[in-house]
Amino acid sequence: MTNQSKLRLMCVHAHPDDESSKGAGMMARYVREGIEVLVVTCTGGERGDVLNPKMDRPEVQENLPRIRNEEMARAREILGVEQHWLGFIDSGLPDGWLPDSGTELPEDAFYLVPTEEAAAPLVEVMRSFKPHVVTTYDEEGGYPHPDHVKTHEVSVAAFAAAGDPEKYQGLGEPWQPLKLYYNHSFGKARIEALHYAMLEAGLESPYREWMDAGDWTRDKSERVTTRIECAEYFDIRDEALKAHATQVDPDGFWFAVPREIQQKAWPTEDYELVESHIETLLPEDDLFSGLRLALQEHCFTTAPGNPWGRFLHLGPFRPRPSPSRHPMVGFRAPSVRKQLSGSRHHGVFPRKVREPCCKRAPAGYRAGRTGANPSLGRIRGGGRRTEVTHGQS
Ligand SMILES: [Zn+2]
Repeated sequence: MTNQSKLRLMCVHAHPDDESSKGAGMMARYVREGIEVLVVTCTGGERGDVLNPKMDRPEVQENLPRIRNEEMARAREILGVEQHWLGFIDSGLPDGWLPDSGTELPEDAFYLVPTEEAAAPLVEVMRSFKPHVVTTYDEEGGYPHPDHVKTHEVSVAAFAAAGDPEKYQGLGEPWQPLKLYYNHSFGKARIEALHYAMLEAGLESPYREWMDAGDWTRDKSERVTTRIECAEYFDIRDEALKAHATQVDPDGFWFAVPREIQQKAWPTEDYELVESHIETLLPEDDLFSGLRLALQEHCFTTAPGNPWGRFLHLGPFRPRPSPSRHPMVGFRAPSVRKQLSGSRHHGVFPRKVREPCCKRAPAGYRAGRTGANPSLGRIRGGGRRTEVTHGQS
């Protein structure tokens, strides 16, 4: 059962530990602000290796699935999130695997389950948890791992189908989550900021190889639309990550940049809004931009079942210039933070959304397949045009 007065966030991940390395600071912050957060873990991480030399012992190897389960339980306790296993089997990561490489995967691999079938249990969880916002990986999985690519496909399919009464009948009452985001934690802009912050502090940067390799052709930093300030929760994020002791060496790469340097150099976790059924202004500093006020005004609590269809006008998105004029390209978090804190849009909601949203809440935003940064004016309108007013069924 869900609490109708609360905002809810669902974060879909591929393996146990991904939730702690991608967006954990953001989740820790939202949980502590009273938002319900559900992590959905697609696979059990059965084919993961022991990546922490200190844990690489025969008794750990023999009991890896059980141990990873216990690690996940500890991490979710630290983060304060709920968590649900979808129950698919880890595909593993064979050398040289790419989506079209022809590299064989084990027969029971998550990646090989047809997407329509694999999306079904996620649709069911969406309909019972009723998230307002969903996060997942980008179309390349964030990095080329079959389970991460599949997690993207399944999340996008479930987001599109969960609110459709014609689809997945028998898996619960339709529920349309309002916003879909991709996680972009490892873009060039952030890595560069951390790298130079380490050098400035006279420390060895763990990113030297990445910087020297210099291949950022697939960098998606420019697609970021939404930065969530969560530096004060980095300690919780780090503890959650350390709970995955078989996967993370506390003296290794993940913890090579001192927390204080990270907090100063890059205090946010970053997302790309790819689809929205509610109006918002970009860039955002909150995954729930456009939603909080609407909830306060009881728009979303008065209708049983799937309330969105009753109140939303899903029309073409109308691009508008961003009122806070900082460019998204190459922007550095601290200066942006300063700008935002001085801006009338910090922590509040765009004027437009203040209109009684029960009458009309224009939306229908969909980023192009390329994910071009909407703030750069490359928006493609999308969505159905179904104007529905309050009171209709
Ligand atoms: Zn993973």
